[in-house]
Amino acid sequence: MPLKLFDKNTFLLKRYWKMVQKIKEKEKIYSKATNLELINAAKNLSDPNDPATLYEAYAICRIVAKRTIGLYPFDEQLLGAIVLHEGKIAEMKTGEGKTLVATMPLFLNALTKKGVHLVTVNDYLARRDALWMGPIYLFLGMRVSVINQLGKSYEVVWKNKSLFEQAVERNLSVWPEGYEDEVLKDSTKNQEALEAFAVELVEITRKEAYLCDIVYGTNNEFGFDYLRDNLVLDLSEKVQRGHFYAIIDEVDSILIDEARTPLIISGPAKEGAAVYKRFAALAKRFVKDEDFVVDEKTRTVSLTEKGIEKAEKLIGVENLYDPNNVKQLYHLLNALKALHLFKRDVDYVVMNQQVIIVDEFTGRLLPGRRYSGGLHQAIEAKEGVPIREETITYATITFQNYFKMYEKLAGMTGTAKTEEEEFKQLYGMEVVVIPTHKPMIRKDHEDLIFRTQAEKYQAIVKDVLERYKKGQPVLIGTTSIEKSELLSEMLRKAGIPHQVLNAKHHEKEAMIIAQAGQKGAVTIATNMAGRGTDIKLGEGVAELGGLYVIGTERHESRRIDNQLIGRSGRQGDPGESRFYLSLEDDLLRIFGAEQLEKIMNLLKIQPGEPIYHPMLTKLVQTVQKKVEGINFAIRKQLMEMDTVLDAQRKSIYSLRDHILGCDEKELDEYVSQIFEGFIDTRISQFSEGKQLNFEAFENSLRILPKGVLQLDSIKQMDVEEIKQNLIEQLKKAYVRKKEEIGADYVKFMKFLMVRIIDDNWRQYLEEVEHVKEAVNLRAYGHKDPIIEFKRETYQMYDEMMDRINELIVTWMFRVVKVDREKSEKEAKRELANLQLIHEEFDILNRAERRKLQKDGKIKKRFKVKR
Ligand code: ADP
Repeated sequence: MPLKLFDKNTFLLKRYWKMVQKIKEKEKIYSKATNLELINAAKNLSDPNDPATLYEAYAICRIVAKRTIGLYPFDEQLLGAIVLHEGKIAEMKTGEGKTLVATMPLFLNALTKKGVHLVTVNDYLARRDALWMGPIYLFLGMRVSVINQLGKSYEVVWKNKSLFEQAVERNLSVWPEGYEDEVLKDSTKNQEALEAFAVELVEITRKEAYLCDIVYGTNNEFGFDYLRDNLVLDLSEKVQRGHFYAIIDEVDSILIDEARTPLIISGPAKEGAAVYKRFAALAKRFVKDEDFVVDEKTRTVSLTEKGIEKAEKLIGVENLYDPNNVKQLYHLLNALKALHLFKRDVDYVVMNQQVIIVDEFTGRLLPGRRYSGGLHQAIEAKEGVPIREETITYATITFQNYFKMYEKLAGMTGTAKTEEEEFKQLYGMEVVVIPTHKPMIRKDHEDLIFRTQAEKYQAIVKDVLERYKKGQPVLIGTTSIEKSELLSEMLRKAGIPHQVLNAKHHEKEAMIIAQAGQKGAVTIATNMAGRGTDIKLGEGVAELGGLYVIGTERHESRRIDNQLIGRSGRQGDPGESRFYLSLEDDLLRIFGAEQLEKIMNLLKIQPGEPIYHPMLTKLVQTVQKKVEGINFAIRKQLMEMDTVLDAQRKSIYSLRDHILGCDEKELDEYVSQIFEGFIDTRISQFSEGKQLNFEAFENSLRILPKGVLQLDSIKQMDVEEIKQNLIEQLKKAYVRKKEEIGADYVKFMKFLMVRIIDDNWRQYLEEVEHVKEAVNLRAYGHKDPIIEFKRETYQMYDEMMDRINELIVTWMFRVVKVDREKSEKEAKRELANLQLIHEEFDILNRAERRKLQKDGKIKKRFKVKR
């Protein structure tokens, strides 16, 4: 291994310390400034990329923080603030005051007026932190908002503006925390200042919230808002205004733990079974080559003129190509496909009342896979087996790809170092470890390992009882709700009063956990519970050894263990920690079974006695590293797959934006492009070499209504002439159509196009899911799933784009009159009924989750409805 010549972290810190000195020099200039002078100085700043601006902004911020909320940022906090401005990850231990650190880079980057985002792990923390830090921002002339679930959005405002104005005039300021001994605690002036700088939340619209300079909200809300913005039918309904700079609090939780599952917006379930049955019956009355044509190669079915008339009569609609009737048309086409393109025992088999797809290359059955876009249901209807209803994915994105859109991304957490490599590889973000303000004196004891879980829990209870008698507060971390309950029951039997937190009620639990450092407090909490809330020690607790943290098993990631331990020993407090393990713990059982057995054979263990053996301690670490590696690989693969999808998503979304935003001239230009694409595709489809199969080509154009194209005249032409001629004809027909529709046509065309794009994109997303599953299966056949995935999806995407063009061309000539208002209403109603889904995921708890699902204790998916 090459010798490390210098430690990167030390090297970086050296540079940052120099910058801190520069800030402190500026601070000297401002420390005597009046409130008004500070406000004006803040107004004069503009360019965050100018180092001089950083020094001034941070110096001003530091003084303002002290005057408005009574917190004076430590030098180490300035270090962290510099790291965040540089788009890196600041690792700062729990209790080091990250909330305050973030105010400086947020203010600095908000100077651009582009809007900066602070991402928290839950709604409660978004509100709390925005309210807590709000006075600093408002003083500095920034607007601050909070976005929460269910579309709730708030702005942070002065409780009493005129009191604030007076405070500026009278130069009032809040006494800094920690200085109570030196100044009169009950100073009336301090009371006045506190009142003058008090803030509150008022409700505003989502869009207004995003117009604020600084926005606090959860990763889910930011992500869902982005997805929803790309479902709108009118650009003015978008709420976000770009992705400039974000700081992610608890960045490891968000970019690593939660990033395992994407955000999904899904629509209402497709039609009920009756509809599929009706169309299955209907389809039988259509005659091949007369009412419709089948293209085996592309596996598509198109209706002829005659077929359309027939369908309109049978279904009972005036115009099948009215966007309001789009569903009926799809149903009919699917039913026809099911009948004429998909063959039983070739493409699929029917087994146990289910339609199971046959892999066309290997002939293997693919149970669980389904055709998309309602086709599978259509086949089920044809075969007379039960029809399974499904929801449709409207939009989806992974956190990785959402956050990669930001021009600059920063993060902070107490535990990033163990995942340094992942941050670097997947996000290009560096981790900088910031020294603690005061030295850390917590005692971390060696793990105790027991033979069985029962013995382990008994030992824990015994330990807790001893501490409880002494009055030392204990925090017990568990890996699941079930285990919390088990332990709670045992403590109850032992007569130890305690609290249990399950990360269900963030606000209430934050209150409880804040008390976990009081004398005699015993608290059981899962990993997620009470996150972001500081545990302060009660009076006399320091003398008892501070907060004692017990881990009831090693988590699959060392980082999560560190999060738990980090709850104790904050800000130079005393504290202790200890992990209790057993050979029956999931981690050891699942991932270390082999080695474990070897060690077991070596040792002779007395029941109830902990086992000390260096090999065991080593094994635990090896296993943790192994699982971390597996999880990293999974995340990396998910990310690589989503990267392909990401490029496609972006181009679809920008196409949508282009269409929704274009004027008449741009629209006409775009339509010409579509005509070209349409004809091009057709020609290449029916050409072999340079030879155009004219008959098939002509036949394929029959999907256009009569009168659009005159085909007699082109027979004698060469391919290039044909192309030009047909495009011209299409353009002329388009002009006629425009006149027919009248003034409304721009709006109408946009609507039509976007609907077609959306429908196809949704169907594509569904198909992509299937491909993902399929390539993962193929991975066993020694094929690289990523390469396979790319190959297939690129092709599918191209096909989709061709299909979109074709649909637009066929539709626009068919529509006669459209109740656009009705269509829009319908579309809006659909959008109002979406489900927002972010599935939680955890390897170890998967088995447990399944059990809970089976017992009906938890829902299959974690859903937020709005
Ligand atoms: P973290 O998120 O890093 O765990 P918090 O932002 O929750 O920490 O802050 C922890 C505690 O430290 C809070 O009670 C806060 O009031 C206190 N604190 C933060 N910065 C300072 C400071 N500069 N001076 C005094 N107390 C501070």
